[in-house]
Amino acid sequence: MNSRVLVVGAGHAGATVAGLLRQAGHTGPVELFGDELDLPYHRPPLSKKFAEGQLEQWLRPAEFYREQDITVRLGEHVTAIEPAERRVRTDSGEARGYDHLVLATGARPRPLPAAGAELAMSLRTLADARILRKCVAERRRLVIVGGGYIGLEVAAVARANDLEVTVVEREDRVLARVSSARLSGILAEYHRNRGTRILTGAGVSALDGRDGRVRAVVLDDGTELACDAVLAGVGATPRDELAAAAGLRCAQGVIVDSHARTSDPHILAIGDVTRRPLHTGSLARLESIPSATEQARQAVATILGTAPVRAEVPWFWSDQFDLKLKIAGLVPPEPGTVVRGDPATGRFALFHHLGGTVTAVEAANSPAEFMAGKKFIASGARIDPAGLADAGTPLRDAVIH
Ligand SMILES: Cc1cc2nc3c(=O)[nH]c(=O)nc-3n(C[C@H](O)[C@H](O)[C@H](O)COP(=O)(O)OP(=O)(O)OC[C@H]3O[C@@H](n4cnc5c(N)ncnc54)[C@H](O)[C@@H]3O)c2cc1C
Repeated sequence: MNSRVLVVGAGHAGATVAGLLRQAGHTGPVELFGDELDLPYHRPPLSKKFAEGQLEQWLRPAEFYREQDITVRLGEHVTAIEPAERRVRTDSGEARGYDHLVLATGARPRPLPAAGAELAMSLRTLADARILRKCVAERRRLVIVGGGYIGLEVAAVARANDLEVTVVEREDRVLARVSSARLSGILAEYHRNRGTRILTGAGVSALDGRDGRVRAVVLDDGTELACDAVLAGVGATPRDELAAAAGLRCAQGVIVDSHARTSDPHILAIGDVTRRPLHTGSLARLESIPSATEQARQAVATILGTAPVRAEVPWFWSDQFDLKLKIAGLVPPEPGTVVRGDPATGRFALFHHLGGTVTAVEAANSPAEFMAGKKFIASGARIDPAGLADAGTPLRDAVIH
């Protein structure tokens, strides 16, 4: 209860673990180091609400940290961990000791592997979102490289603001890594019907421009897409270099167990920087708020020695135009799929199952179907596909007892 806890990274995971420690009665010093200048904030609105409203949505107001006696050190980069001495070094030259160190260093945007990549914007931080907002306000022609969730969310907002939008995707469908082919098809059509051009199977070889301003995107086949702005949304890589340099086990992410423990007994890791066990037992890197929150709870239980946290089915959400998407479970490889509702109306759920056992649900504007699907996955319930497909059959009646 009174150990000295240092948290590196003042993002969602880091700020959450600091707050939860106090909520659970931890009385020792808690220090939160973040190299951004802003108080910890919500990242999801950056790709969904950058054109309207307030971007600065703090996770907690400044008073919260004062009242909870959490020391927040913003604009300070932790440069090294010295595990044998149990201390870290910061770029201000300071050394700080710890009993428990929590690494919550997140991820950074993957650079676009193309000539002239420095002409593209990326989207991870508040500062990035402010630049994107300016670009939308100037009503430019926008090319988005990468048809992942962030790329499609930005495309939807940009189209709603009358920009000319082209999405360039290297794979043969959007969301190839993270969604079913069925959902990819439905979403691509939804975007195309609203005026977005989507090019799949298209690699980018270069960005052309001068004096810091982009003029065109050049595709592998030589096609030039004239534009005034480019957003690169080609994924993120874990910021695990600090952990790797300290000798912690890493493999494209810090390897942790289901208690947020790393290979060093005094160091925990949580959030986007980790490669973590899933409810199925396999290891994966999840980039989502629910996962960061679950791991923050795991870290608190480990530090305080309280009951372990029950494994959650992974889930996340995305907003595109008027579609509120919620996805749970692991989608590929694709087993059977039951469609409930009508994709043409924008209200539907795709239940993916393996011999009647639900492995994933992808729901649009269907919160009840999402919740039921998540429960089916967690319990391993067997469902009757015909009953599930019939919107007139109550969801609970689709379970085979
Ligand atoms: C635009 C966008 C939209 C998203 N939308 C959704 C969504 O709709 N739903 C969803 O579930 N998830 C969404 N996500 C993902 C979600 O935001 C992340 O999973 C979550 O923020 C991860 O939290 P984290 O604390 O692990 O990492 P981060 O939030 O990245 O925080 C890490 C922090 O650590 C700092 N840091 C790193 N190294 C050091 C160091 N050495 N010293 C000091 N500080 C350091 C970084 O600067 C950063 O501030 C979105 C992400 C983005 C970028």
